[in-house]
Amino acid sequence: MDGSAPPDSSWKGGLKVPYNVGPRFTGNFSTHLREKVKMHIHSNSEVTRIDNVIGTLRGAMEADRYVILGGHRDSWVFGGIDPQSGAAVVHEIVRSFGKLKTEGWGYRKKILFASWDAEEFGLLGSTEWAEENSRLLQVRGVAFINTDSSIEGNYTLRVDCTTLMYSMVYNLTKKLQSPDEGFKGKSLYESWNKKSPSPEFSGMPRISKLGSGNDFEVFFQRLRIASGRSQYTNDWEMHKFSSYPLYHSVYETYELVETFYYPMFKYHLTVAQVRGAMVFELANSIVLPFDCRDYVVVLKKYADKIYNISMKHPQEMKTYSVSFDALFSAVNNFTEIASKFSKRLQDLDKSNLILLRIMNDQLMFLERAFIDPLVLPDRPFYRQVIYAPSSHNKYVGESFPRISDALFDIESKVDSSKAWEEVKRHITITAFTMQKLAETLREVA
Ligand SMILES: [Zn+2]
Repeated sequence: MDGSAPPDSSWKGGLKVPYNVGPRFTGNFSTHLREKVKMHIHSNSEVTRIDNVIGTLRGAMEADRYVILGGHRDSWVFGGIDPQSGAAVVHEIVRSFGKLKTEGWGYRKKILFASWDAEEFGLLGSTEWAEENSRLLQVRGVAFINTDSSIEGNYTLRVDCTTLMYSMVYNLTKKLQSPDEGFKGKSLYESWNKKSPSPEFSGMPRISKLGSGNDFEVFFQRLRIASGRSQYTNDWEMHKFSSYPLYHSVYETYELVETFYYPMFKYHLTVAQVRGAMVFELANSIVLPFDCRDYVVVLKKYADKIYNISMKHPQEMKTYSVSFDALFSAVNNFTEIASKFSKRLQDLDKSNLILLRIMNDQLMFLERAFIDPLVLPDRPFYRQVIYAPSSHNKYVGESFPRISDALFDIESKVDSSKAWEEVKRHITITAFTMQKLAETLREVA
């Protein structure tokens, strides 16, 4: 859509805010956000039935290892973008995997395809299913690929995933065609890298931390199964607003998508290829496509970041003897063990099936080792030491949540000494858990 609506008042509502149609928001919204609005809401509260639909492909070799592709099917209104642009992708992936199977292909691991209900009401379908199956998922879950909306823009690819999947995502996007204008014959990786460079890995495209607000929450934040999501997105340098303007509204229709946003559905296709390739790779690889060395890079970055936040209070750091040495020591220890593990994995004799299974299990359970048995303070659903949804914006992820929550707004705390003792306590818990989790990658002997 463009700004071609008639400049008269017939299409405007009665609120004292600037009314305009795209392509961008204009006017100073921050002043209007301070205005008080009285709203009369009419809604019904009733107990109703929800249905998840689960399809499975039996694993030909490792039937006790699960790779899950899941996305929601319910929508606030018509759901032209959220979720049907993603639910359609699940159908296409199921169709293509089924076609391969009828042609005789046997998937190494078990694949589960899930169509969740009641995501919009609080991630209910996925959370209930995962809680019901939590014992199996804890010991058998290899990965969860989330498949909500495929599109929130048409600028470039967006990926949020566990660090263990970075290398896999980079490798497979190098094999896919870019759908972007001006990138004919180039790979998806090339256009993505050009438009959205990573702040952590120089020369590589950006991958973000998983937050919440979607069905992967129970799998990643609670059960800590390696998880990832992908979609086409906006140019966030240009559009400072989260999500797209018609998000969750009555105007999210199929016609809108087909006519204005994504004629030919070429971005849907690209996202289907990315999600399908991730599931295919995870379900078929002999050695799990997880690279623990990528954790070395990000853990160092996260440790530096949290240290620098704390160092904004040099006097208090000194007065209360706050030290990050234990955390940096844990990161160094992890670095050493992870690099030895990777070396052993490279030299692995894949015909030694017992050893192959041992090392695959070490990779799979590395994610589980990030679980913090004490759970996060006041947030018992979240229970891992390096990631949690931010306490201040649930949609984005936060690193070292215990420490960053303890440091948040620390200058406003009444009892400074007590507040800094809390920071120290959370540094200790985080460092201890990190030291212990590194042990899971040591050579089994
Ligand atoms: Zn959705």
